[in-house]
Amino acid sequence: MSDRPVVTRIAPSPTGYMHIGTARTALFNWLYARHTGGKFLLRIEDTDRERSTEPAVQAIFDGLNWLGLIPDEEPVFQFARADRHREVVAEMLSRGAAYRCYMTQDELEAERETARAEGRVIRSPWREVASNYPEDRPFVVRLKAALEGETVIADQVKGDVTFPNKNLDDLILLRTDGTPTYNLAVVVDDHDMGITHVIRGDDHLNNAARQTQIYQGMGWEVPVWAHLPMINGPDGKKLSKRHGAQAVSEFDDMGYLPEAMRNYLAKLGWGHGDDEIFTDAQAQEWFDIRDVVGAPARLDWAKLAHVNN
Ligand code: GLU
Repeated sequence: MSDRPVVTRIAPSPTGYMHIGTARTALFNWLYARHTGGKFLLRIEDTDRERSTEPAVQAIFDGLNWLGLIPDEEPVFQFARADRHREVVAEMLSRGAAYRCYMTQDELEAERETARAEGRVIRSPWREVASNYPEDRPFVVRLKAALEGETVIADQVKGDVTFPNKNLDDLILLRTDGTPTYNLAVVVDDHDMGITHVIRGDDHLNNAARQTQIYQGMGWEVPVWAHLPMINGPDGKKLSKRHGAQAVSEFDDMGYLPEAMRNYLAKLGWGHGDDEIFTDAQAQEWFDIRDVVGAPARLDWAKLAHVNN
């Protein structure tokens, strides 16, 4: 781990209302930044043009405002950075850390079949071709990832998680239409924003392995990872509408106070002994990402009502 000043972020995709899971992720990032005297930043991941909406962006701003989790700098919009993402890919190509892959759809299908039969991931014959590329043919740019060894995610919540490199195919960085892929954009943005700690939902744990490979390809310092457990309903099942309110705006409508909500959200995966209620100052003093538990957290509205009163 480096001794860079701590910079955390949340990076929500503006594709719906602001969810309780996003609120909890924001809180943990904010608490950790406050605890360490670092910064908490916001990036709007609006690269999915079909699903991203202006009201959803506004819901994120409003939700963070209501919760009192104010980013320390202006938000970064990911879509606006596509040229920068392409610039990094060009650099990876020139460093030999990426390559152009001209496999056609049919060739890719055939390779998928063979790979499946042989119990391995797909490999591109273009991996070793560094020049004399065919002209006027569509291509994707793939990461030239290590074939042997392993990628270890030293996760602050989950412990060491090991991914054998032979199980990771060469990730696509740029699509045939020149648009950057999700994992590439996240890495470039986190690097450029100086993010030292990536604290997010554990549905992104597999992406951390992919993202580590991209950092290595660029020779960039890999951030500290902390993947938070899911939030389940009181019955231990995946959270859904039948469990009640899930949008941050609903909590306001229901009369919950932001400080009660912060206190409640902090306890979804973290806690301080038996303390039911703590002040913001205490939470900031006590919070450490290494104390977050790896098992799924459970929502319990009765406890929120208790804190609210
Ligand atoms: N945009 C992703 C999401 O909303 C988060 C990506 C990340 O935190 O790295 O799930």
